[in-house]
Amino acid sequence: MTTTTTTTTKALHDLGVAELAAGLRGRQFSAVDAARHFLARARAHQNLGAYVALNEDATLAQARAADARIAAGTAGALEGVPIAHKDIFVTRDFPSTAGSRMLAGYQSPFDATMVTRLAEAGAVTLGKLNCDEFAMGSSNEKSAVAPVGFDAPAPVRNPWDTSRIPGGSSGGSAVAVAARLAPAVTGTDTGGSIRQPASFCGITGIKPTYGRASRYGMIAFASSLDQAGPMAHSAEDCALLLSAMCGPDPDRDSTSLDMPAEDFSRSLNDSLEGLRIGIPAEFFGEGLAPGVRAAVDAALKEYEKLGARLVPIRLPRTELSIPVYYIIAPAEASSNLSRFDGVKFGHRARNYTDLVDMYKKTRAEGFGDEVKRRIMIGTYVLSHGYYDAYYLQAQKIRRMIAGDFQNAFKECDLIAGPVAPTVAWKLGEHGNDPLADYLADIFTLPASLAGLPGMSVPAGFGEAGMPVGLQLIGNYFQEARLLNAAHRLQQATDFHLRSPL
Ligand code: GLN
Repeated sequence: MTTTTTTTTKALHDLGVAELAAGLRGRQFSAVDAARHFLARARAHQNLGAYVALNEDATLAQARAADARIAAGTAGALEGVPIAHKDIFVTRDFPSTAGSRMLAGYQSPFDATMVTRLAEAGAVTLGKLNCDEFAMGSSNEKSAVAPVGFDAPAPVRNPWDTSRIPGGSSGGSAVAVAARLAPAVTGTDTGGSIRQPASFCGITGIKPTYGRASRYGMIAFASSLDQAGPMAHSAEDCALLLSAMCGPDPDRDSTSLDMPAEDFSRSLNDSLEGLRIGIPAEFFGEGLAPGVRAAVDAALKEYEKLGARLVPIRLPRTELSIPVYYIIAPAEASSNLSRFDGVKFGHRARNYTDLVDMYKKTRAEGFGDEVKRRIMIGTYVLSHGYYDAYYLQAQKIRRMIAGDFQNAFKECDLIAGPVAPTVAWKLGEHGNDPLADYLADIFTLPASLAGLPGMSVPAGFGEAGMPVGLQLIGNYFQEARLLNAAHRLQQATDFHLRSPL
């Protein structure tokens, strides 16, 4: 593994996870120093709206414990490295809202498995990060929660141009890394929510194979799609986090795969000589912004220089992934969100006449428009008479989409293309047009529906000088290969090292 030795010349906030871990172990700075530095930076840039909760006492207590373990020689792989979590993971030390009024003030009695695993590796939690309500959205404009420093909900801003969206739903996560308010963070990806904001903010993010990372304590949106993953400066840093995150959790998540944890850093430096990269024609058609295309093409050229071969492939049902996803995800959401009824936890309406009136008012007050839209669509497609026409058909096509990938992987080792058709758009640009957001998910939805691992790697800049991500999609359990391909590109380019602040 290549660990940089320039820790003394860079500011703490410009260090990645590998560099921070090395500096901490070498006692160049303490975990408390690192935590204080990032907390101060989070406050100084709170105008970006990235954080929704900080708890400095809890963070510093974790940092002191990490310093003690370093002193005792029992440091974990991420000992003392500060990270932050998307506010969809429940946490004992911080409130957990999922970006919703429904969970305002909710305090979980336990930590999500992802939070526990990262803490066991020694990571220190800086705070919680803004996201679209229940992770439904592509712009982070659907959060109903006030960011730190605000009294009311405020937009999460893209640090490359604060008049633009950061992407979503893990928008706060992407902004925190891009603006160097945390060296690495967690996100979740149901239909693209790690890859798309990573692309829009110029950082690196990976969604592992469905089932690799436990969903326990991850507030559910669409259970057959939801998957956690890391977002960081580089593939090397993502590999370090992912190695701590993955692994079976059979007692708590019935869809967690019985596959041992892996060292995802093991093949970062492998040669790409002879690697076959599939280029799906459907990802390069009409609607792809020229600036995005140019950046993606340049990255593909770089891969050819590294010895890879580009192979044309077809993913013929790419367009169908939009209607299929926007039937299946709302169907599952409508079921998952039925638990928010004002009885067990979360918001309860103040004035009501009877139980049913309490349910209705609680849900009318607690959920935002996009969440209500999805509950209605989901309930509709699952109802008698429409189930066969919509939900069942969508499931069949989902299966065919997964089959298309298996056909493609007969001819290639991984697939590359754009993450999104455009760069980050302006805040408010999509107005009240939910379809405009849905259509922008076209290139991330196929891998989600198939349960495949996918990542976004900074590939340069497109329209308006905004970041562009290259999407890499692997076959099941090929995370190490994806990270290897991303790392080699990052050794040949410096886009991942650039920061807007
Ligand atoms: N943009 C997609 C949606 O709104 C994906 C969100 C996600 O991956 N959480 O559902």
